[in-house]
This record gives sequence, C-alpha cells and structure tokens, in this order.
Amino acid sequence: MLVVQKYGGTSVGSLERIRAVAQKAVKCKKEGNDVVLVVSAMSGETDRLIGLANELSESPKEREIDMLLSSGERVSAALTSIAIEALGVKAMSFTGRQVGIVTDDFHTKAKIKSIDGARVREALKGGHIAVIAGFQGITNDFTDVTTLGRGGSDLTAVAIAAALKADLCEIYTDVEGVYTTDPNIVKKARKLDKISYDEMLELASLGAKVLQTRSVEFAKNYNVPVLVKSSFKDVPGTLVTKEDKEMESVVVAGIAYDKKQTKLTIRAVPDRPGIAATLFDYLSRSEIIVDMIVQNVSIDGKSTDISFTVPTTDAKKALNITKEVSAELGAKGVTYDDDIVKISVVGVGMRTHSGVAAKMFKTLSEKNINIMMISTSEIKISVLIDAKYTELAVRELHDTFELENADATIHTDVS
Ligand code: ASP
Ligand code: MG
Repeated sequence: MLVVQKYGGTSVGSLERIRAVAQKAVKCKKEGNDVVLVVSAMSGETDRLIGLANELSESPKEREIDMLLSSGERVSAALTSIAIEALGVKAMSFTGRQVGIVTDDFHTKAKIKSIDGARVREALKGGHIAVIAGFQGITNDFTDVTTLGRGGSDLTAVAIAAALKADLCEIYTDVEGVYTTDPNIVKKARKLDKISYDEMLELASLGAKVLQTRSVEFAKNYNVPVLVKSSFKDVPGTLVTKEDKEMESVVVAGIAYDKKQTKLTIRAVPDRPGIAATLFDYLSRSEIIVDMIVQNVSIDGKSTDISFTVPTTDAKKALNITKEVSAELGAKGVTYDDDIVKISVVGVGMRTHSGVAAKMFKTLSEKNINIMMISTSEIKISVLIDAKYTELAVRELHDTFELENADATIHTDVS
C-alpha cells in the first residue's frame, strides 16, 4: 500500500513527539508500505511567527508572511526526516516547491493548481520515507512561496494522496475522530466509524476542529479516503469517505451547533418586488455570506420584516450596510441579536427518509424552545434558537435521534 500520514502541530510539538512520529512511520514502512509523511509546524510555531511579524509592522506584506510561515513546516519536516534516519531507515524531506505543489498567487490562502510529485515517487522508489513540509506551495512560475491558509497541512496531505493515488490518507491529530456531537456538551457522544464527505462538510462546526474544510472538499472531489486518528492513543479513528448504502440507512449522523452567527432584522420595509434583491445585493457585494433568511408575511399588505443571519465576524459590517438600506427604503430600522445559536442535524439518510424535521421540531417544542428561523438542505436541517438553550437542545436532540447507540441510529424509524 501507499500510505500518506499527516501529523499536526501537537504531534510534532517536541523532539520526543517527533521521535514517536518517526517510529510510527518506520513501523508502517516495515509492514511493507510505501510511506509519505506530511507534517505541520511544531505546535504554536505558526502563531509565534505571526506575532513576530506583527511586532515589526502593522501590515506586513503577505508575500513575506508566506516566506516566514513556510519555515515552520520546513523545520519539522527536516527534523522528522533526521529522526527517521536515526532509526536506521532512509528518509528525505521536501519543501512544497521541491515536490512541485503549484498554486495560484493568493498569498496566505493560495489554492493548489497542480502537483508534480516526481521527486516523491523517486524517493519512494529509492526506499525512502518521504517527509513533506505541509501548508505550502509555489507560484506558477516557481518564483514565490505561498501558503494554503490556516490548517493547510491537511490539504497538502489530501492533495499529495490524490496526486500519488495513495490507498489511504491518515490524519494524525489530537482528537480521536469525529463524534456525533461535541463530547464537551454530551458525554454520551459517540465516535463515528465513518462519515461521508458531505456530512463532514455540513457538520462544519464539529468537523472543522478535526479537518480543514478545504481539505474535505478536495478529498471529496478526488475521492481520497481520509482516516482521522489520534496520534497519542492507538484506537480506531473515523474514516471520511464517499457515501455508501449503510450510511444512507443512518438518518441522522450528527448534531452541530454554531454560536458564531448574528441575526439582523430590518423592520417594516415596503412589501414590493426588488426589496430583498437590493438588500442582499449590497451584502454580497461586501462579500458577506448570508446564511438563514426569513421574510414575514405582511399583515397589511404594505410592509414586512426581513430577518437574516451572518457570521458574527461580519456582523458590524452587515449592520452598517443594512442600516443604510433601511434608511434608503424608508424602513423602520434594524435590530440586532447576538445571543443566538444555529443547531443542525445532519445525515445523508435524510435523502431517503422523511419526518426528521417534524421530530426535531417536536423535541424542541417539548422543552419550550422557540424556533426563530429554519433552513434546510438535502442532508441537513438547521434551526436558529436562543443561545441559552444550546446545551439543552443538543442533548435532547442527541437523545431523540438515539445517537449514542450505533445500532439504534441505523434502524431509527422516523417515518
Ligand atoms: N502550521 C499551519 C497552521 O498552524 C498549518 C497547519 O498546521 O496545518 O495553520
Ligand atoms: Mg489542524
């Protein structure tokens, strides 16, 4: 087998841990596999480097930031290679440029355009373990170093796995896998054996702590099976993979919550064609992503309220724009609510099973939790509720859909 193993910052956070990574890689190699490692910078290193730059300048050039940050991964790749050789096994480390990871020139968040990988193949042929510095690439004309956005070593690993047609991409990290919900809220949260790419993407708030979102999209596009595992405990992890029949029979795979949303309401806008178009056009031109939208029925046929949610990080900007639109349209002003949470139930089984929404709403109503907004996709139902009910709602829904019990989820009858 050809295996790509990616180790995150905590997994290479000290020399002792780098030695442990070297041993794991060597073990995998001795079992007869070709092994490619992708490593992150030692934990805290990327933040430390950003801090240094910010002490020297308020707005350091992004080109220089990429030069700076890419050094962190380079250090851990070389150290890991040295540690493997010290165990008597051949190893060779590479930068992004050396393995031909070509990107566009959007510094600090570059997109991968192509991967050559010839030197990795050569190294493997020569019996080496190849160790690749994650998170970095090179612009088209091989002139400037780029980085792939925070958490980008995951993307390096998935992309290298795709380019080399690896049998498996293992992501070693400080969690044991993907859970049915946040184990900090629900003690009974269960680690999933496997989850589909789409579910992983929809569970963003749970999933993003485990895998960089772009790496999941990439894995989906190139059909790379990704196994998330603990680098400290030898226990089974979670396989992120393409949808199969068994997954379809699981109606709800997980429950996510997102507190980083803000609700804005524009009051008593004239109820006529073009109003929503105007408002959301202004917002989108400012690159603000609107998530949920509700327009109330107008009582007198003349005016209506429109509520919508935006990421809290964009809330101020959105508020200013909405206030301007409100004034322009002669609306009665804008209100703002930060104490909200979006709760989502996610599962590919929703494509073929009905009744999930009804069951979700009933569970919330039994606890007297008011639903402010609802949105759905093919495999997700989200509701917006008061933030103070976050834990209660997540716990009750976890019970309702019997997520603590692997067999129960498969046979849950929601029709
Ligand atoms: N070192 C980079 C970061 O901290 C990339 C990574 O760890 O994946 O974001
Ligand atoms: Mg990470």
